Amino acid sequence: MSNASSPDFPIAIIGAGFAGIGTAIQLKKAGIDSFTIFERASEVGGTWRDNTYPGAACDVPSHAYSLSFEQSPTWSRRFAPSGEIQEYLLGITDKWGLRKHTRFNTEIVDARFDEPAGSWTLTTGEDETFTARVVVSCVGGLVDPSMPDIKGMQSFTGELFHTARWNHEYDLAGRRVAVIGTGASAVQVVPEVAREAAQLDVYQRTPAWVVPKHDKVYSERYKRLLARFPLLLRASRFMIYWLSELFGPIIFLDNERLSKLGEKGSRAHLKAQVKDPVLREKLTPNFQFGCKRMLISDEYWASFERPNVELVTDPIEEIKSGGIETKDGTFREVDAIIVATGFALGLASAPFPITGKGGQKLDDVWKDGAVAYKGMNVSGFPNWFILMGPNTGPGHTSVLVYTEAQIAHTLAAIKKLRNEGLRYVDVRQDVQDRYNEGLQKRMKHMVWSTGCNSWYLSDDGSNHSLYPGFAAEYALRARAFKVRDYELVA
Ligand code: NAP
Repeated sequence: MSNASSPDFPIAIIGAGFAGIGTAIQLKKAGIDSFTIFERASEVGGTWRDNTYPGAACDVPSHAYSLSFEQSPTWSRRFAPSGEIQEYLLGITDKWGLRKHTRFNTEIVDARFDEPAGSWTLTTGEDETFTARVVVSCVGGLVDPSMPDIKGMQSFTGELFHTARWNHEYDLAGRRVAVIGTGASAVQVVPEVAREAAQLDVYQRTPAWVVPKHDKVYSERYKRLLARFPLLLRASRFMIYWLSELFGPIIFLDNERLSKLGEKGSRAHLKAQVKDPVLREKLTPNFQFGCKRMLISDEYWASFERPNVELVTDPIEEIKSGGIETKDGTFREVDAIIVATGFALGLASAPFPITGKGGQKLDDVWKDGAVAYKGMNVSGFPNWFILMGPNTGPGHTSVLVYTEAQIAHTLAAIKKLRNEGLRYVDVRQDVQDRYNEGLQKRMKHMVWSTGCNSWYLSDDGSNHSLYPGFAAEYALRARAFKVRDYELVA
């Protein structure tokens, strides 16, 4: 058995995406070097390492979708492409010397709490074990591609891949291509494929509300200005953040007047992009604005105006060796199928077996839905901190606002444990229950519960993904480590 870094107070960070890297940097800044990052892949980056499909970009402006303690003046445009975000993550990883802390190609497959020692034993896929006093779980919520269960899919003899596992060896130029799905990944990839392919069929099950993107390239002069006057960069971030909070209720509240405002904007955008009223009708959602994720694109709807792009709304019956057949009996031959069907929701269950105090399993505790205090701590699982855990996703702003608050909270708890020589901190069950009852009461007033089907909801219709409120409010609640909410054990 070896220790997660230095023997005095080993800390394990699982996952080297935005959350893991951000946590590691803040630990370094606090003078804490005794951490190890366990990363199952061979490189850092998480989402931005994996999602390299053409058109992949963040739909939150980069001045806000970056760490507040590692701001960059060099973003090439308002919504930076995926590759540039990955470059940013590689840059800060190297700047802070995080590679020497990272065990790549090391997947944690089991975790067990040892109560007398106040430590966790982590086991890797190679059957190695590590001991850590604190575990910061940064495994992400939307990581593993969700493949659709469509009859005959295995019999397809052309090229088939998921957007998050793009095959860059395969040249789409001049090919007949199908895209299945019309969510956040699809709206980015469809315009790119439409430009390349000879024929593109987009299989839509549910249309989405799309709004204009207002993207723009940043001039060299502007970037120099931002580098010279960091206050300008802060001001830009501040503006983006508060504007998203201001307009947030349109996207997250179940309020007919506000939803109508959003719908009106989106309908005007559709009208400006698509001339044919029949096509417009097919592209118009019949659920309340915001119920499923609002999408942003200036090119997606316009793609359907191209002569080589067809919107297919008949449900898929079967995939055959040479193409796709829909329920109405039409068969469309294709050379390639791109699956844009999203991800298996990682936050709904434990990422691997996690055994807490008294031998209880996290998956058993979460059998009626994933819950955690402030999305981070689960009673009975001491010294275990989840970043981007249950009910911490935003529908309207940068997820990093939430992540940074969670990092601050985790750091405060680590300091408490270290400085006071505590064995463990464990959130009180009654505190956790009250917190979650409050969340679920508020959830009833959120637009996500108005009848549409989305990855936000569990099978029983409950929402254990998103935070029902403003980011500022969550951040204020989550940042502080309130000692009275925890059992402190020496
Ligand atoms: P998604 O939003 O879950 O969309 C999946 C799409 O596939 C939906 O249109 C869905 O239809 C369709 N689909 C699923 N199974 C199907 C089947 N068996 N047959 C036909 N259609 C099927 O997935 P995503 O687009 O990858 O986005 C997931 C999340 O990742 C987003 O909500 C967002 O949080 C994140 N994301 C973010 C960005 C960004 O720019 N920041 C970009 C991409 C993704 P239904 O709607 O009918 O279920």
